[in-house]
Amino acid sequence: MSNPDVIVIGGGVSGLSVAWWLAHAGVTVEVWEQNAQPGGKIATREADGYMTERAASLMLNFRPEVSRLLAATGLDASKAMCPAPPKNRRYLLQRGQLVPVPMRPGALILSPLWSLRGKLRLLAEPFVPKGGRSDETVSEFIIRRLGRELLEKAMEPFIAGPLASDPDLASAQAVLPRLVALEKRYGSLALGVFAHKLLNRRTAPVHEVFSFRRGMAALIDVLAAAPGVCLHARRTATQLEPMRSGWRVAGHAPDGERTVRARHVVLSVPAAGAATLLHPLDGESERLLRGIGYASLTVVHLAFDRSAVHHPLAGTGFLVPRSENPQLTGCQWVSSLFPYRAPRAKVLLTCYLGGARAPETRDWDDDRCIGAVMAWLGPLLRIKTAPERVWVDRHECGLPLYHGAYSGRLRAIAERLENWPGLHLAANYCGGVSIRDRIANGYALAQNIQVALAGSGAPSPATVLGSFPMRAVTRSSC
Ligand SMILES: Cc1cc2nc3c(=O)[nH]c(=O)nc-3n(C[C@H](O)[C@H](O)[C@H](O)COP(=O)(O)OP(=O)(O)OC[C@H]3O[C@@H](n4cnc5c(N)ncnc54)[C@H](O)[C@@H]3O)c2cc1C
Repeated sequence: MSNPDVIVIGGGVSGLSVAWWLAHAGVTVEVWEQNAQPGGKIATREADGYMTERAASLMLNFRPEVSRLLAATGLDASKAMCPAPPKNRRYLLQRGQLVPVPMRPGALILSPLWSLRGKLRLLAEPFVPKGGRSDETVSEFIIRRLGRELLEKAMEPFIAGPLASDPDLASAQAVLPRLVALEKRYGSLALGVFAHKLLNRRTAPVHEVFSFRRGMAALIDVLAAAPGVCLHARRTATQLEPMRSGWRVAGHAPDGERTVRARHVVLSVPAAGAATLLHPLDGESERLLRGIGYASLTVVHLAFDRSAVHHPLAGTGFLVPRSENPQLTGCQWVSSLFPYRAPRAKVLLTCYLGGARAPETRDWDDDRCIGAVMAWLGPLLRIKTAPERVWVDRHECGLPLYHGAYSGRLRAIAERLENWPGLHLAANYCGGVSIRDRIANGYALAQNIQVALAGSGAPSPATVLGSFPMRAVTRSSC
C-alpha cells in the first residue's frame, strides 16, 4: 500500500476496531503491530479438548455498533457465535458461602445477601436527593445512593473483578457513567432504570452475553483479515513527526526501518507506550499519560475430571468481595458457561487473581498462585483431587485504573492534543475497558476521521475518546 489515509499503531482490539470501521467505510488504513500476532491481550489457546482465554473470555453487549459489526462480519451466525445460557446464575461469596446474585428488582429486595437495614436503605434510594461532586469516587457515589452494605457486598466485587479496580479510588464518572447519567437525568437510579424499561431504551441484540465457537480469537481474526485493513505484524512504531498535512511515522520491522506518511495517526497502545511516542512532541501529555496506573492480573485455569468436583456448578461462577478474600477476585465456571470449551465429563474453571486490591500477587510465582487458588476453591466447590491440567496467564499491566480525577486527566490530555491535529488516542484507558466499548469507541473515532477526511483536507482535531460523554460512549504489557 502506498501512503494510507490512516495509520493505526497497535493491533489489539482497540486498534483493530478503529481500522475495521475505517476500512468498512472505504478509508485506506494500515495497522502496525509489534508482536507476531494481532490481538494484544486477547488470545485463545486450544489444548487436549480445552479452550482457554488469556484475557477476555466473553462479551456483554447492548451496543448497536457491536451488533452491526458482528452482523457485517458474520460473527453473529449461529455457527460462529456462542451465547451463554440464558438466566444462568451468578454468585457472590458471603461468609464462605455462594449466594445467588439477585437478577430482578423483587429478588434484590428479598435476597439473603443484605440485612434488613441494608434492604431498607436500598428501598430509600428514590428518595435520596441528587447531588454529589463531579469527582466522586465509586464508593462515595454508591454509599450516597444505595448505602455501604450494597457497596461492600455487591458493588466492590464487580469493580474489583471485571475492572480490577478499587472503588475507593475509582472515579464514579469514568467507571459508572451510565449510573451517574441516570442520577443526573432522573434524580434516582431506580427511577431511571424504570423509565428506561418503559421507554425500551436498551438496544440489546438477541444474545447479550456470548463468546465465539473459536473463542475470542475469532473476533480478532475477522477484524485483522477484513478487506481494506493492511496489517503489518512485527512492526514497532518508534517515532511520530508532524508534517504540513498529516504525520510521518517511523519504526522498525524485521527487514529494516520503515517510514510511512498518513493524514491521521491513531495510537492504540497502552498509556505508557503512547507517552513514549509523545515524549518528543509534548512533555505534558507524556506526563499525563504516564500518570495512568495499571493493575496486574493473573489468570489461573484449572481442569478436573467431573467426578472430582462435588459442587453442581449450576451457573456461570462467582465474584469475591474484598472482605472475603482480597487476592481472589472471581472464578468463572467455564465448562458450565460454554460446555464446548472442555471435553465431556471434564470441568474447566478460570480464576482471577490480583488487580488493584492485591498488587502483591504480581510477585507470586505460578506454584504459589495455583496452591492458593486450590486452597480456596477446594472447600468451596468440594474438590477432592489436584487438577489434571493447569494454565497460568500473567498480565503485568492488565487493566488501566480509572482512578482519581480521571475524567479531568483525559480532558487535559485532549486539550494538549488539540495542538496536534490528526493525532488520536484510542485504547482501553479511554472510554471503557470492555471489548464492547472498544468496538463502540472505534466506531465513533472512525466517524470523526471520515468527516475530517471528507472535509477540507486538513486533519481533524485530535481525539481522546471517553474524555467527554461523546455519543454516549459509556464505558495490556506495559
Ligand atoms: C485478564 C483479563 C480479562 C478480561 N476479560 C474481559 C472480558 O471477559 N470481556 C471483555 O469485554 N473485556 C475483558 N478484558 C478487557 C479487554 O480484553 C481489554 O481491555 C482489551 O483487550 C484491550 O485492548 P487494547 O487494544 O486497548 O489494548 P492491548 O490489547 O494491550 O493492545 C495494544 C497493542 O499495541 C501493541 N503495541 C504496543 N506498542 C506498540 C508500538 N510501539 N508499535 C506497534 N504496536 C505496539 C501491543 O503489542 C498490543 O498488541 C479483560 C482483560 C484482562 C487483562
